[in-house]
Amino acid sequence: MGGNLITVLSGGGGGAKFVDGLYNLTKDFSVVVNTGDDIDVYGLHVSPDVDTIIYTLSGEINEKQGWGIKNDTYACQKYLKSLGFDDWILLGDKDLAVHIKRTELLKSGKTLTEITFDLSRRFGIKIPIIPMSDDFFQTHIELEDRTVHFEEYYIKRLNGTVKNIIYKGVEKAKPSEKFLDALSHSDWVIIPPSNPLVSIGTILSLKEIRKILREKKVIGISPLIQGKAIKGPLVDLMKSLNYQVNSFGIAKYYEDLLDIFIIDGIESDLAEIIKGDLGMEVLTTNTLMKTKIDRVNLSKFVLDRLD
Ligand code: GDP
Repeated sequence: MGGNLITVLSGGGGGAKFVDGLYNLTKDFSVVVNTGDDIDVYGLHVSPDVDTIIYTLSGEINEKQGWGIKNDTYACQKYLKSLGFDDWILLGDKDLAVHIKRTELLKSGKTLTEITFDLSRRFGIKIPIIPMSDDFFQTHIELEDRTVHFEEYYIKRLNGTVKNIIYKGVEKAKPSEKFLDALSHSDWVIIPPSNPLVSIGTILSLKEIRKILREKKVIGISPLIQGKAIKGPLVDLMKSLNYQVNSFGIAKYYEDLLDIFIIDGIESDLAEIIKGDLGMEVLTTNTLMKTKIDRVNLSKFVLDRLD
């Protein structure tokens, strides 16, 4: 596993698309994945971002949705629903098979990292996919009247002011050994266009990680273009928590880590401002990944900057 000179930190949306582009160009990297979205459903351990990365890199992903397995069926959940059980989180039959196996292996004493390596091999993936932690960690969203798991907030598109983002388990959770191992072999760390608060922030909240990253060369890409998210609740979260909702706000969030920050060419006016105020190098290119070629081009642009 040693010798991977790049570590990518990722969620399951913009992160997965970027990682897919990079995977087309090189296999010399590890991807460390957010596990704050992990959730128990029907007693099964679902690891949404890890699965999205596995399904994306293996070509099994349902491209239209950006999650789940292509051509999946929903017989199990339809039947559960007919019996009056809840189905707010949509899980296809094949997807459920993965969760059943993961849960069985967890119960037998295997770690999430070991299971993810096993699954990745079975899906034919040629790079290490590393869960950020083997310990309990769940991201919860505190609303005015209640606190819900991030997946529930996201999938049910719950409205209202977000009072706080809670990283449950953060006091005890350690970064996984393979994560630390990957970092120790990496000169460069890439932060793709993932949600800073709920995908990358969780990874950065683990003990020692920010400190280690300050010693590395870090290149990040903004998940906002002209203050807008491509998908997901980032804008609502940033607004509620009083962050500046644009690429400047993103750069500020990562200020202590970034050597290079990439923003979309359409907002090149921000480049000088970010550089002037925060000191990092700021580059511009097309960061919108609509097609596979966009994914590859963006990761090529990043790769070409790593000395
Ligand atoms: P999650 O696990 O589904 O929340 O996924 P991530 O955290 O990896 O990514 C979510 C973020 O990716 C959102 O804030 C989007 O704005 C951003 N994003 C998605 N697609 C793109 C894209 O093509 N370009 C850029 N720049 N950002 C993107």
